[in-house]
Amino acid sequence: MGAWRKTAGVVVIGGGIVGASTAYNLAKRGIKDVVIMEKDLLAQGSTGLSVGGIRQQFSHPANILLSRESVRVFEHFQDEFGVDIGFCRAGYLFLAQHEETWQEFLTSVKTQRQFNVPVEALDPDEIRQRWPYLNCDDIIGGTFGPEDGYADPYLAAMGFADAARKLGVRVEEVTRVTAIRLSGDRVLGVETTRGPISAPVVVNAAGPWAAEVGAMAGLDLPVSPCRRQAFMTQPFDRLPHPVPMIIDQDALFYLRGAAPNLILGMSDPDEPSGFNLNVDREFMERVVEVAVHRAPILEKARMLKGWAGLYEITPDDNPIIGEVPFLKGFFCAVGFSGHGFQHGPAVGRIVSELISRGRTDFDLSPFSFDRFQKTPGRRERRVV
Ligand SMILES: Cc1cc2nc3c(=O)[nH]c(=O)nc-3n(C[C@H](O)[C@H](O)[C@H](O)COP(=O)(O)OP(=O)(O)OC[C@H]3O[C@@H](n4cnc5c(N)ncnc54)[C@H](O)[C@@H]3O)c2cc1C
Repeated sequence: MGAWRKTAGVVVIGGGIVGASTAYNLAKRGIKDVVIMEKDLLAQGSTGLSVGGIRQQFSHPANILLSRESVRVFEHFQDEFGVDIGFCRAGYLFLAQHEETWQEFLTSVKTQRQFNVPVEALDPDEIRQRWPYLNCDDIIGGTFGPEDGYADPYLAAMGFADAARKLGVRVEEVTRVTAIRLSGDRVLGVETTRGPISAPVVVNAAGPWAAEVGAMAGLDLPVSPCRRQAFMTQPFDRLPHPVPMIIDQDALFYLRGAAPNLILGMSDPDEPSGFNLNVDREFMERVVEVAVHRAPILEKARMLKGWAGLYEITPDDNPIIGEVPFLKGFFCAVGFSGHGFQHGPAVGRIVSELISRGRTDFDLSPFSFDRFQKTPGRRERRVV
């Protein structure tokens, strides 16, 4: 920890991928005096616990655009940041069991192709041919994105943070923001466990804690934390690596390679909101059961470990990005609903533009703070 400075140009609350990318992009645009406040250590929140999936197969055009931009950053990460994040282009295979899901896939494929996303629509026989280990008896069809894949989310966030530091960004770890200082409709700075900081701009990039930070500014942000568990097998050589990210949309189950291991996960629709991070053995058994149904060879796999992290969920599964209309200087980049790792690069660029230029070319209306008071917007359908 360096000497404490009582002023900053921009305070970024949260040292996950979103905060780190925002700070880096601000510094790259020449914004001086940016500081990241992190209550724990960098990239140990949702980002470090994520399974690192990167895909362009979304249903909402705005999410496809965030992906199109972010995937280019991941592709060239080593050139820009000097860090190998292990981006494995194994592809993403989405599977549909129900007709309604399949119809949604086909509609999304049309939208994705409008944005030049390479995506194939496959029938069960084609899926069986290409991934013979999959049980397709109850599958109507699937879509495959060959440009999609996965990377190491911790290394990516640390890549952004280290590059930000080199450009002069201060990082204050083990420093919790405890209050937002306001005067009328303006932000004046923050109070922290190590003292106050005056700043005309504050960014809420607090991930699952976004609503807590919003409340410090008198806001009611509809962002709920919710546990998601993931499990890793012991090394398993019965599947040809690289194993794509395989998502059984109707079971909310996924499987991906992490050579020589595999990662399995599933969302529990009955999981209550909250900060519970326990790993639940009974749930692991349910995940294994679904995994063995989808890929019977997995009966021979042995589990190595499990972990739990938090999604940060909004009512329409889309993020909230931008300056709060009635609170000058207070920006949000929150509520990524399970896809914030992969959208971090583009979001950082967009928020940094809003702060440095007062505008961005990206149409943020689907992600606006006040959309929940208006007619419900289009929700993101491709959420696991
Ligand atoms: C099991 C699992 C799998 C996932 N898989 C994927 C995936 O495949 N692809 C994908 O794109 N996304 C995935 N996600 C979602 C992804 O992890 C998140 O959307 C993303 O990491 C959010 O990044 P963030 O920077 O907003 O939040 P975080 O990484 O949580 O960072 C927020 C930071 O803010 C800090 N903070 C909070 N309050 C304060 C405060 N008052 N003062 C100071 N600091 C504070 C926290 O300590 C934290 O470090 C997954 C999540 C989980 C749990």
